[in-house]
Amino acid sequence: MIPAGSEADASRACCVDVPSGSPFPLHNLPFGVGRRRDESVGAFVAIGDQALDIAAASRFFVGTVAADGLLDDAQTLNQFAALGRGAHREVRSRVTELLTDDSIADDLQPCLVPVTDLTMLLPVAVGDYVDFYSSLHHATNLGRLFRPDGDPLLPNWRHLPVGYHGRSGTIVADHTTISRPHGLRTCSSATGTDEHLPVDGPSEQLDIELEVGFVVGAPSEATRRVATAVAEEHLFGVCLVNDWSARDIQSYEYQPLGPFLGKSFATSMSPWVVTLDALEPFRVDPPTQDPAVSDHLCTSGPTGFDLHLEVLLQSAAMCDGGIDPVVISAAGFADMYWTPAQQIAHMTSNGAHLRAGDLFASGTVSGPDRGSEGSLIELTARGERPLELPDGTTRSFLEDGDCVTLRGWAGADTATRIGLGSVTGTIAGRPVSHANEEDH
Ligand code: CA
Repeated sequence: MIPAGSEADASRACCVDVPSGSPFPLHNLPFGVGRRRDESVGAFVAIGDQALDIAAASRFFVGTVAADGLLDDAQTLNQFAALGRGAHREVRSRVTELLTDDSIADDLQPCLVPVTDLTMLLPVAVGDYVDFYSSLHHATNLGRLFRPDGDPLLPNWRHLPVGYHGRSGTIVADHTTISRPHGLRTCSSATGTDEHLPVDGPSEQLDIELEVGFVVGAPSEATRRVATAVAEEHLFGVCLVNDWSARDIQSYEYQPLGPFLGKSFATSMSPWVVTLDALEPFRVDPPTQDPAVSDHLCTSGPTGFDLHLEVLLQSAAMCDGGIDPVVISAAGFADMYWTPAQQIAHMTSNGAHLRAGDLFASGTVSGPDRGSEGSLIELTARGERPLELPDGTTRSFLEDGDCVTLRGWAGADTATRIGLGSVTGTIAGRPVSHANEEDH
């Protein structure tokens, strides 16, 4: 389905100069929440390296009922998200009209602010948070590392989208500093009879997980299952998620009930919510599922999305020495085994309902090849083959002061690319020589 307005507007010039390769061209128009320099907070739509201040442009939205929840100084997009895809479509269409109408360009100009003038906040107040485990390659890689003597995939994995409920209160915005968690963990030097004895202390295996997040828009009714065919009608949009993970805490605690404190200390979420309409041209058929799945998980058509994702790392020394971040992983999203539609259908199959602002993440996105793994534990085989960084150091897991950025986009051609933007987090404890670093 082509989003309303976009086809007709495809050839029209945007009054904002969008830099080549920008993740936010006219056909993207993602929604976000930012704090202005005067400390006020409001809703914005990104265009190039600018952002349209919806409140400042309110007169252009008069009569647009769908702008409810955006026109006042919105602290979150929850209210707007809840209006559903028709409303999101209407506002994007209106923004497209505004940005391509030469006759109002001068009037619109004061409503545009450089994104760099904004502190981007979480786009929604996240209610429930679910993290899935939907990459066959990641589940296989991790299964081999965590259960070297067993089958990498547990018997249920191909029958349902495995997931767990995470901690929404520790989902943090872009550029939030991440404190190294303490906890009961496996001791890396433990041997022999004491190998199951934990030690209490800071994690020595702090890791990242490269994930795609999905923000719920229109809620669903309690006790009603959401069918795969209509599941996407409940989506507000897509973002990037870094599921920070303490592998030593995780590996000690995860049996028999699954992830807990090794995951719940921080999860970073990117600031811009990209609508499915913007990603429509980049749909793909998901992989064939074998064995056949339960009726409530059956889908047809292109319910996958062809996204390219990357992880970049910059140590404190690299930052100090003016060395740019390096790409340590590049993975594709197109071959994820379970799709967002199936994840929604499964999350609601017991009658649990969706609320606007709920977030669910794909699970770590890993490909089949070296360098396409979405976590350090996979990239380094749990430290057996450390990464070499341009500053001459190596990494098995994250060191204090390391800065990690996830970025992602759809489309091979930079001219027509639709970007998800990026999300960055720095591990606390940069050496004092690195000024300007604030630990939260
Ligand atoms: Ca995860």
